[in-house]
Amino acid sequence: MNLSYTQGEETFAAEIREWLSANLEPTPMFESLEEEVAWGRRWQARLAGARWVGIAWPSAFGGRGASPVEVAIYNTEYARAGAPQPVNRVGVNLAGPTLLAHGTDEQKARWLARILSAEDLWCQLFSEPDAGSDLASVTTRAERDGDRWVLNGQKVWTSYAQFAQWGLCLARSDPAAPKHAGLTFFAVDMTAPGIEVRPLVQITGDAEFNAVFLDDVAVPGDAVIGGVGHGWTVAGTTLSHERGTAFPFKEQVVHEIYLHDLYHEALSSGALDDPAVADRLAQCAVLAQVFRVHNWRTMSRMARGEEPGAESSIVKLAWTALTQELSEAALDVVGPASVLGGRWGRQWLWSKAASIAGGTSEIQRTIIGERLLGLPK
Ligand SMILES: Cc1cc2nc3c(=O)[nH]c(=O)nc-3n(C[C@H](O)[C@H](O)[C@H](O)COP(=O)(O)OP(=O)(O)OC[C@H]3O[C@@H](n4cnc5c(N)ncnc54)[C@H](O)[C@@H]3O)c2cc1C
Repeated sequence: MNLSYTQGEETFAAEIREWLSANLEPTPMFESLEEEVAWGRRWQARLAGARWVGIAWPSAFGGRGASPVEVAIYNTEYARAGAPQPVNRVGVNLAGPTLLAHGTDEQKARWLARILSAEDLWCQLFSEPDAGSDLASVTTRAERDGDRWVLNGQKVWTSYAQFAQWGLCLARSDPAAPKHAGLTFFAVDMTAPGIEVRPLVQITGDAEFNAVFLDDVAVPGDAVIGGVGHGWTVAGTTLSHERGTAFPFKEQVVHEIYLHDLYHEALSSGALDDPAVADRLAQCAVLAQVFRVHNWRTMSRMARGEEPGAESSIVKLAWTALTQELSEAALDVVGPASVLGGRWGRQWLWSKAASIAGGTSEIQRTIIGERLLGLPK
């Protein structure tokens, strides 16, 4: 395998590097999540103005039609520069690819540009109190009422719902149909009457996610994405992008920077003299390499024009292993008191979510077993 860049790819890398060095300002310390989101929207609008967000999208919709290799280069340079993640992550990584794959021309024209510019933030209304891993069990009801739908139910763990204008919502439109066939995928206006968003405080002290209650929420018929009864297929596209294309390269570089910083901290504090700490850091370096190789494989797959598919579960697992091992190693290096505050403590607390968010590790292993290894169900 030849892993070096072509001349054109080198030029592309130089272009994004130059733009970031001319435009990226240091991220301020924020007093609140509201402040952080407002700042993030301005930064994303600037990225979108120069077409440096959603670059894989077709140019007709504000992207650059970038190849998977260009996306990898972009993600690498973006992370190396220390640029903050676009605030409209669900919009760019999940809603956009879902609309591009299943949306009508009208829906694409209506939503895609506003996703890139962060005029509309999106959230993902999938999980429910009794439907997380077993997502096809969602019970939020969608009942037809003339040419509109009326939604009732409860969603939970909805990240950034308190800031979102739109939600990607999976709901049961036909309770009599088999479990997977009775689902429909909607774009729900989060400001519609009947929606109540209640923030949930997590272990880090932040309240990024929420419980969302839908009480007789009217949704117009043209907000169905991918056709009535096809919600499971559409949700599959969303999830494969969440696990497969949202992680590669960017996360790899972020983790490599963590590892580099941690190594230097261990070296200067003398913690590296402890063989157990040295072993743990070596293990992190191995996991970082494993993650890198899985990223390359996903990229090759996409370069062949294939969807990320079930292999995205391997990427997600490799990312989880690296995230959690690095956080444990950090605790060994800087001591357990770091949990009380600071960069490593916060990262350690957050890392607990890595094996849950976007589908738990047990579920990823089941997908790998059944769909990639062909093991019996
Ligand atoms: C940081 C974070 C952000 C999130 N953001 C969103 C969001 O924006 N929108 C959204 O819709 N959801 C979001 N989620 C929810 C997430 O998708 C769910 O938490 C996840 O799918 C697991 O569902 P659950 O919490 O209901 O756990 P459950 O499904 O109840 O699982 C509980 C435990 O049982 C295990 N288990 C369940 N079924 C099986 C099985 N068949 N085989 C083996 N083990 C099994 C699980 O692995 C887990 O350990 C977020 C979660 C986190 C942590």
